[in-house]
This record gives sequence, C-alpha cells and structure tokens, in this order.
Amino acid sequence: MQIAKYSFGIGDRFGNQGKAQLSALIKAKNAGIDIVPVWNKSHREHGIVGTSPADVRTEADTSVKALGWEDEYHVDADHINMSNVDGYIDYSDFFTLDVADYINEPADESSVNAFLDSNRKYIGDLKIPGIDQAYKITEEVLKDIAGKYLFATEQAAALYRHIAGKKGADNMIPEVSMDEVADPQTPVELFFILRMLAGENLPLQTIAPKFTGRFNKGVDYEGDVAQFEKEFEEDLLVIEFAIGEFGLPENLKLSVHSGSDKFTIYPIMGKLIQKYGKGIHVKTAGTTWLEEIIGLAAADGDALQLAKKIYRNAFEKQEALCAPYATVIDIDFSNLPSPEEVDTWDSRKYADTLRHIPGHADYNSNFRQLIHVGYKVAAELGEEYYSALKENADVIAQNVEENIFDRHIKRLFDL
Ligand SMILES: [Zn+2]
Repeated sequence: MQIAKYSFGIGDRFGNQGKAQLSALIKAKNAGIDIVPVWNKSHREHGIVGTSPADVRTEADTSVKALGWEDEYHVDADHINMSNVDGYIDYSDFFTLDVADYINEPADESSVNAFLDSNRKYIGDLKIPGIDQAYKITEEVLKDIAGKYLFATEQAAALYRHIAGKKGADNMIPEVSMDEVADPQTPVELFFILRMLAGENLPLQTIAPKFTGRFNKGVDYEGDVAQFEKEFEEDLLVIEFAIGEFGLPENLKLSVHSGSDKFTIYPIMGKLIQKYGKGIHVKTAGTTWLEEIIGLAAADGDALQLAKKIYRNAFEKQEALCAPYATVIDIDFSNLPSPEEVDTWDSRKYADTLRHIPGHADYNSNFRQLIHVGYKVAAELGEEYYSALKENADVIAQNVEENIFDRHIKRLFDL
C-alpha cells in the first residue's frame, strides 16, 4: 500500500464533518490538485471525546460512499505506541509511530557500535546533492546522533513489526513522528535517522520531524521564516538522497504535524515541493472543530448561546485544558476576553474573533487557541452539543469546507 503524493490529515474530533472535509478535497480535485484524505485521531482525542478507532473508520467509509469518492483514502492511528496500538490495527491503514518519548534514551552498546561501524564511511565532508555546503561528520557527531535517536528508531521499528505482523506489511502506510519534542531535528540528524530506520527495514512513507519555530495548534507559524525555508529545503534534499542511498520507498515524503493554519509558510512549502517534485502530508486535524464553533456562532440564536457557554466553561477550566498541550500552544492569558464580555457579543463578533483571517481586526489567536484545546468542554456537554451540530449542520459544513479549501489548500497549492 502506497500513499499518493499529496495527502491531508483531516481529523474530526466529534466525527460529524467527514463529508464537509471531503467536499473540500473534491473542490481541490476539480481545481486540478489530487489530495488524498486521511482521517486521523489520536489516542488522547479518543479518550477525551469518548470515541473508538472503529468510529473513525465508519466516518471515513460513510463519507466516501456518500460523496462517491473513488480515489484512495486512509484512516490514521495517530501518535500510537505499543501500549495502545492493538485497538487500532483492524480499523487503520496509516500508522503514526510516535517515538518522541524515546529520544535521548540510550541504546545498547552493541547497537551503538554497529551504527558507528556502518556509518564511518560518512566521516569527513558529507555532500548532499543540491545542498551547497557540506556537513562535517565526525565520530563525535555520529555518537551524538546515536545517543539521541538510535533507541527511538529501534522502538519505531519494533512497533512497526508488531503492526505489520498482525496486519500485513502491504496493508499499511508507516509514518514515523518525532514532532512533539523540545528541539528541532537538523537536516543532518534527519539523514542519519533515515539511515537508522532503513537499517531496521522500516519502509516508512512519511516522516514528521520537528521543524524550527513554533507550530502552535490552530494558529499561524511563529519563528524564523528564512531559517524554516532553508531547513525545509534541505530536508527535502536529504530525503531525496536517502531514498537512493538507503533504498527507502520512492514516495517517502515529509509530514507536517500541527500543520493547520500555518499560512505564512504554506507558500514556501508549496514552492519547494513543486521545485523538487516532492509530495507532502499535512495534518490539519483540530482546525475542523473550531469551524464547528464558528458555525454555531454564525447560526446565531441558541447556537450562539451554546458557543458562548463553551467559551465560558473553557475559560474557567483553562489551566487543566492547556496542560496536556503545553508544548503546542502559546496563549497570552491577559488577552483573553472575559466570559462576561463574550456574552455581549453578537454572532458576527464571535465568529470573526475565532475565525483565522490574518490581519482581521477582530481575530484573536489567544481566544482561538483556548477554544482549540477546549473540545473537552463540548464533549462534556454531550447530547446538547451533538444536537446543536445536527441542527446547524449546513452552516457548519459550509465553514468546514471553506476553511480547508479556501484558507489551507489554496495557499499551499497556489490556487
Ligand atoms: Zn504530531
């Protein structure tokens, strides 16, 4: 099983927007860009919302059938590990093998030595075709990289073999993720990480490194854009070289996690993947839930009152809601409106504060990030929330589709 060149991770917290998400990809297809949908949901999300892996499969199958989608589509077991993967194997065909927790853990001395022996040939000036400057590789550099990543890649391989043993290697797309960590991986680290994974015979098709800069949930990129551009281009060239050098799958591509809403860097990523003819996977999962709240606000009346209640509850529980997402949000709490103030807002003011239109006078990224991590509050409302989704399905669907197509796909693919 091979994933196509372009794919979007389109998670859906509450499982109601599959058709609206897919219709955005149908619009892209009609505009000449084929993007494969990958419905993803992490173990953490399932726990908070109270859903199971089977629900995601059902949503994907139902949406595809309803809209007559005949191309490929996948279901991603997102950020799984050995302790929870078994519940996903029957329902997923894309597996995000998360090794972040194992980075910096020491590997066996014998495997460190084997890694050093098989890579001594790279000591000296490592030249990657397309990158002007050579990387200086020394024994120390190799030891340092082994110390950070060798054990983690061994764990990824063990997890891969576990899944492949049950599901069959041909029935799955493996991704390796290491994005939820403090430090970005450099292109030269990426090169040797790919070497390690190839050495373990892990035929990964996508890899999610941590890039330079902040990839906060649901808001724009923050960081050194020029540095990001340089690093992203080098990563693409490293991958191209590694495919030939290590015999990795030809379609191996970068995966951008917390990839929704990174509007500043989409044109850069788009330009570079076009330049080198490379593919990309962009995870945009959480942004869809925000469109549900925007849709409720836009619907006015009781639906707006519910959106206000969700903000009030999220505001009151802000510490607990933010804690699990500390590395991927950046909220200036002093710039959050009080729930009393939000209660005075009309439909347009609420929607415009939450909707991500860069430069819009009402847009508030702090408000947006708090709602982003606040989906637990909606889950706790249970039927009250689900029935509001049903009652306002049309206006919500319109917002979901517009968000993915107009704000994400158009910017990334220069449509
Ligand atoms: Zn991730």
